[in-house]
Amino acid sequence: NSSASTQQQARFEDLFQLGEVLGRGAFSVVHKTRHRRSGREFAVKVLDRAAMTGDDVQSLVGEVSAQRWMRHPNIVRLVAFFDNDPTHFYLVTELCKGGELFDRVVSQARFSEKKAAGAVYILLDAVSYFHKHGIVHRDIKPENILFQDTRPDAPMKIADFGFAVHSGTGETLRSLAGSPNYLAPEIVENQPYGTAVDMWSLGVVTYILLCGYMPFDAPNQRELFRKIAAGTFAFPEREWGGVSPEAKDFVASLLRVDPRARLTADAALRHRWITTTDLSDAHLS
Ligand code: ADP
Ligand code: MG
Repeated sequence: NSSASTQQQARFEDLFQLGEVLGRGAFSVVHKTRHRRSGREFAVKVLDRAAMTGDDVQSLVGEVSAQRWMRHPNIVRLVAFFDNDPTHFYLVTELCKGGELFDRVVSQARFSEKKAAGAVYILLDAVSYFHKHGIVHRDIKPENILFQDTRPDAPMKIADFGFAVHSGTGETLRSLAGSPNYLAPEIVENQPYGTAVDMWSLGVVTYILLCGYMPFDAPNQRELFRKIAAGTFAFPEREWGGVSPEAKDFVASLLRVDPRARLTADAALRHRWITTTDLSDAHLS
């Protein structure tokens, strides 16, 4: 295909103009960017080759291969990848102008149940899609969930497949990856794991949406991992007193230490909290 080969030869700077910084991650800076010929705006994740180890490059390859073929209204689309620059890698994705779910939770303290269920329903639909294809995201958290624009009901998109891997035969992964507060027990215990780790993280995200704080937190990582491995968390009366039993059961069914007892994405989509909450205001694309 001639357009693909043209794109491989062209350099990022030839085709795109770099704009303002949108966000920063561990190894990357994300900028707004403009496609010179069309004037269309995108986001670009710029990675410094010199700062990357062989493993980092491997995980970038995983990110690109996972994100490239995915077509889902609630997954950030990767539109181009440039590896022909001597100093940087460039991942061009659709632009999400509405900021992170993280900022909306912080600014609103917590979501209503209806709003939380609407958000979780959309996330489950996207997660179910990539789990069916054997992809484990491994870093689901409110910083990696973006809004397409600034409207309150803007579509949500899962971003940052930087830790994503193919689980292949199922439970074969073992490496420590992700953000400490969202890690599943089997990861902190160094056990083999699979797609169920994303369901645990979604349980943590749902918990945060409903009350505004983390289910598992501690002053140091040792203590945090001990709490996660034990799976001990509470529903403090002050914030959770008015929350429905269905919502609490939903969270508890995701925050199960045994990954086999945890809800899968498809089972979670059929949970009473998701099926009985009025989703008339939810936007699915
Ligand atoms: P990292 O792997 O380094 O965490 P991310 O892909 O999560 O990189 O990007 C870091 C931050 O940049 C995100 O948390 C978000 O704030 C911003 N960002 C990333 N992708 C986009 C995008 N497509 N549109 C708008 N902002 C983005
Ligand atoms: Mg990130």
